[in-house]
Amino acid sequence: MNFNDFNLHPGIMEGVNGLGYKEPTPIQAKAIPAAMQGCDIVGLAQTGTGKTAAFALPILQKLMQGKRGQVRALIMSPTRELAEQTSTAINQLGKKAGIRSIAVYGGVNISQQVYNLRNKAEIVVACPGRLLDHIWRSTVDLTHIEILVIDEADRMLDMGFLPNIKSILDCIMQKRQTLLFSATMPKEIRRLTEDILTEPVYIQVGETAPVETVSHALYPVKQHLKTALLMEILYRIQKETVIVFTRTKHRAEKVSEELKKAGFKAASLHGNLSQFRRQSALEGLRRGSVKVLVATDIASRGIDILSITHVINYDIPECADDYTHRIGRTGRINNNGDAWTLVTAADSGMIRDIEKILKSPIERKTIEGFDYSVTGPASDKPRYQRKPDANNARTAGQAAGRELRNKKFNNRRNAVAKAA
Ligand code: AMP
Repeated sequence: MNFNDFNLHPGIMEGVNGLGYKEPTPIQAKAIPAAMQGCDIVGLAQTGTGKTAAFALPILQKLMQGKRGQVRALIMSPTRELAEQTSTAINQLGKKAGIRSIAVYGGVNISQQVYNLRNKAEIVVACPGRLLDHIWRSTVDLTHIEILVIDEADRMLDMGFLPNIKSILDCIMQKRQTLLFSATMPKEIRRLTEDILTEPVYIQVGETAPVETVSHALYPVKQHLKTALLMEILYRIQKETVIVFTRTKHRAEKVSEELKKAGFKAASLHGNLSQFRRQSALEGLRRGSVKVLVATDIASRGIDILSITHVINYDIPECADDYTHRIGRTGRINNNGDAWTLVTAADSGMIRDIEKILKSPIERKTIEGFDYSVTGPASDKPRYQRKPDANNARTAGQAAGRELRNKKFNNRRNAVAKAA
């Protein structure tokens, strides 16, 4: 199959050729004909499979055939970065056909968006919160929406956006075509598809398991040695482009600062940063001025940077699905990628869950020449680890006893070190 089989408008085909797409990816081969026939679609696909063009091309084709100059397609995205990226991809595909898309998200000035919504946009790619803001201000007109896409629906659910989405859907009264894409299908999303789609075509590409172009490895290490081991790994894979995932914003910032001090071209990406800083970190990674992006799970979905060769989980994710999303940042469209996870003794349960979705054990590796024996603070536990339950006197008592013993041990060790 090739793109000519879809009978797309010549202007749209110019966009496809301009991006160098030769053959449709599996999700495109399945979704484009169904969407062009007007069917509602549930697409079970990860990012990196080409799903943006799978919904963008049918949208562009539809818009070529009706009244121009008004907002007729709406795509809802969970994050600003994904909204921006989707809008850029649509503008590239639709350039020669003269169709404009705009991204609408919070954290930036609203007046430029108001101007663009009034004057230019035919496709709006929006994060739910800011779109509701525009709806309340009456600065967006949704009365001509013919096609609606909910992208990364499971992420929307995780981020608590489902009520916002339902409020937005209540504002689109007219008959419309709806496409919903999700990497996983939790029961809330299944229920949503039943509520808002009409006799959808279900399309699943491959497994929801991580892409095969990625190879996985675990690096067991004590908590206090993680940064040192990360640096050792980064020294060995110099010149590659890496995303490092941490579990907290504070840790992303701290690790990124430590890497910068050690001379790495590092930047951080997390929800406490301004939109400008988030975008410039991603731009840096795209252009190569940043080689190591230290991020929270905010970057684990959708971000499409083909040059990413390695994902390193500084902290193991909180659930196995997040592992899938994180490692989806590498190995995109048949490039090879590596997903390495630094693990401590506390991570064994999550490792089992991840191995279950991979359907095979992950190889345990060590870095030759790295000194794993360096001792650290007595309390070798992550700061985010839950404190012992104060109501449980036995646990609390045991912990207090342990802490006291650790303190004494540390004092003794320091005294010995000083004397020596
Ligand atoms: P997506 O899953 O939509 O984020 O797409 C991942 C990457 O694949 C993007 O860089 C797209 O430009 C690229 N891509 C999408 N479709 C194709 C195709 N048919 N051939 C080659 N690359 C593609």
